[in-house]
Amino acid sequence: MKAIPYGRQHIDQTDIDAVVSTLQADFLTQGPKVQEFENKFADYVGSKYAVAVNNATSGLHLAVLALGLKEGERVITTPITFAASANCVRYAGGEVWFADIDPDTYLLSIESTKKLINSKPKGFFKGIIPVDFAGLPVNLEAFRDLANEHDLWIIEDACHAPGGYFSDSKGVKQMCGNGNYADIGIFSFHPVKHIACGEGGMITTNSEKLYKRLSSLRTHGITKEDMAENHGGWFYEMQELGYNYRLTDIQSALGITQLTKNKAGVARRNDIANNYKQAFNGKVKFQSLPDGNLNAHHLFVVEVDDRKGLYDFLRTHHIYAQIHYIPVHTLPYYKEIGYGSTDLSKSENYYSRCISLPMYPTLSNEEQGFVIEKVLKFVNG
Ligand SMILES: *Cc1c(COP(=O)(O)O)cnc(C)c1O
Repeated sequence: MKAIPYGRQHIDQTDIDAVVSTLQADFLTQGPKVQEFENKFADYVGSKYAVAVNNATSGLHLAVLALGLKEGERVITTPITFAASANCVRYAGGEVWFADIDPDTYLLSIESTKKLINSKPKGFFKGIIPVDFAGLPVNLEAFRDLANEHDLWIIEDACHAPGGYFSDSKGVKQMCGNGNYADIGIFSFHPVKHIACGEGGMITTNSEKLYKRLSSLRTHGITKEDMAENHGGWFYEMQELGYNYRLTDIQSALGITQLTKNKAGVARRNDIANNYKQAFNGKVKFQSLPDGNLNAHHLFVVEVDDRKGLYDFLRTHHIYAQIHYIPVHTLPYYKEIGYGSTDLSKSENYYSRCISLPMYPTLSNEEQGFVIEKVLKFVNG
């Protein structure tokens, strides 16, 4: 029997053709495809600027640097995320403080974040990194109000959510990563995410100043801008210590063709989610969906009493469900350096019960029916 993973990429002939023609062109890296991908991605999410990078982890690193995070400065994020959302703060020598999640949306709780901020003197924290977990957009309007009150920046970790949106208080749809409420948005093109580049990431922003800083930091901190006239065409300056975090033209060509399929992919993911919800309604708890939101559904998470039992049972039927995530504050590295003593019991309780079921556009109705049948069989005993 064919194995059913929790997620998988979808590569078709148009993707293959795009990569092959880039291999036959003049540039392998830093060519026209990078810029085209950046422009198309910015158009798609509705941001002014986009900066392509070699993966989202690099994107997060550049984001905290561009926002000026310094050693010892403190940033708040959620424990229910991939470690990279927190690690970027450590790269810059900052402290990661965790606030708890909402037990129904599984997103960073605004109340818990407020409580943590208010328990400390003014100026204690520098920024917040909310995560659009599983593809469900964070209400960034609410976080912006809180951030403005305390002079904080916001990095939206939108790695799970290209194509998702929430509706703000005026009823306007706000696409994930559009930069209207967060300072910077981050996306990943790891094959398990919506858009596969092998490795890859995108940083979005509406700030020209941040855009320039991010572009410079991506390429060693080197710039040539406006220098040819005074010094000659070869001239460049290294103005700060940057990195080589560039995406290649080959990956960008793949990213462009993958991006064109994302809208349909998100729609199919939502069909799959609706099938699960219909089957599980009243029997198995799943992530709630606030009004006016489109969940991009990187994942479909359910909660069960005997999570390990279900995980093992599904594996005997070649269904490879996955767990997202082990709370970051309980990972040995963070346990050792742990800051604060915030109550994170909702995150810990969620982790003891969560399991991500197969969710990807090419999952067939038959395969999904098989998954649903096995989950219900296990839950009903
Ligand atoms: C995948 C992921 C990342 C890191 O992405 P990479 O492209 O693999 O570096 C960061 N944050 C979240 C929430 C992710 O899911």
